[in-house]
Amino acid sequence: MSKSAQTLVVYRNLQLDGSHTLAVARQRGGYQAAEKALAMSRDEVIEEVKKSGLRGRGGAGFPAGLKWSFIPKKDPRPRYLVCNADEGEPGTCKDREILRHDPHLLIEGMIIAAYAVQAEWGFIYIRGEFYREYERLQAAVDEAYGAGLLGDRVLGRDGVRFQLTVHRGAGAYVCGEETGLVESLEGKKGQPRLKPPFPANVGLYGCPTVINNVETLAAVPAILERGGAWYAGLGVDKSSGTKLFSVSGHVNRPGNYEVELGIPLKTLIEEHAGGVRGGWENLKGVIPGGSSTPVLTAVACATVTMDYDSLAKAGSMLGAGSVIVMDKSVCIVRAIARLSRFYRHESCGQCTPCREGTGWLSQVMNRIENGRGEKGDIALLKEICTNMSGKTICALGDAAAMPVVGAIKAFPEEFDYHVEHGRCLVG
Ligand code: SF4
Repeated sequence: MSKSAQTLVVYRNLQLDGSHTLAVARQRGGYQAAEKALAMSRDEVIEEVKKSGLRGRGGAGFPAGLKWSFIPKKDPRPRYLVCNADEGEPGTCKDREILRHDPHLLIEGMIIAAYAVQAEWGFIYIRGEFYREYERLQAAVDEAYGAGLLGDRVLGRDGVRFQLTVHRGAGAYVCGEETGLVESLEGKKGQPRLKPPFPANVGLYGCPTVINNVETLAAVPAILERGGAWYAGLGVDKSSGTKLFSVSGHVNRPGNYEVELGIPLKTLIEEHAGGVRGGWENLKGVIPGGSSTPVLTAVACATVTMDYDSLAKAGSMLGAGSVIVMDKSVCIVRAIARLSRFYRHESCGQCTPCREGTGWLSQVMNRIENGRGEKGDIALLKEICTNMSGKTICALGDAAAMPVVGAIKAFPEEFDYHVEHGRCLVG
């Protein structure tokens, strides 16, 4: 978390010393929202989250309350709650901040969510590389068990059970896709499943399962504490609440910043992240939501606001809110070629358009970057992307195609120059 002065609204313990401990969490009102939720009916809790307008913060932006309401009410099968802590989108580094500095906020959010959907067992699937975060999280879970916050009598209430297990993944990007994650959690290869059926009906061990991202679940205590209407009053229409934006790249103060959705991108960069290296005039473009989202030109960056609708209108996406700032020293072809290599490496290989397409994209991008581009390569890239988008089991196919198509559209002159002159336009 950047130590710049900022007002944290929802994730408010992130800058406190010792904030990962139960004692500090409790001093700051930790677990009071869970007490309140457990005194409400399950439907009331879901309604409150629906009212807040909270959307999934992992990338897809699906309304959280609606997702919870899909869990069948009368079903003899056990239900599960799974927290996706596999944060792997290049540019994203905000979930680990919560895991590291306020794991009790996440645990409290999970207690509330589990109560709402009648899940008696939950899992936190944490990226294997997050070893320190895992240590803190596991210690927090142990503390919560010790204090009677988890287990057979959650917060001392008869009939409310919630067991919580922390599971370390092995570092595959595709395990951040919810059904890939479920497969991995079941001990299989982390290959995404065909949908439908959706996890709300057939998820972990074939049972109804809710899967939410860390940041999403950690927003729930504030919503229960202060009310769904309060949360809905933050941000803008259809993008309510606050968001942790990870700002990286060529800014003077990279870091995670909690701000209301709808903030102008320029304000986020200039006022929170210390401005573009060399000044705003030195900005070339921004990838606004993580590596899979199309890059925006400096002209677009000057006016776009950071919410779902505005970014979609500008031809990109909010994604996980990972803002990668690039100044004029960046060769866009080189940057995108690097991303294409990443997606090629991470494709699980199940579906042909993704397995072959990511390989082709990477090869063609590479040869353009290395000065061996051929006439027709740009058209070839577009064709490969068309044959990948929307034609695969999971969104990785689209995630690999979108940055390429977006960059060709935003910076056509750089691609043309590379192909024609065999070198980079920026020198
Ligand atoms: Fe695997 Fe790619 Fe198909 Fe996703 S789109 S299931 S990563 S091959």
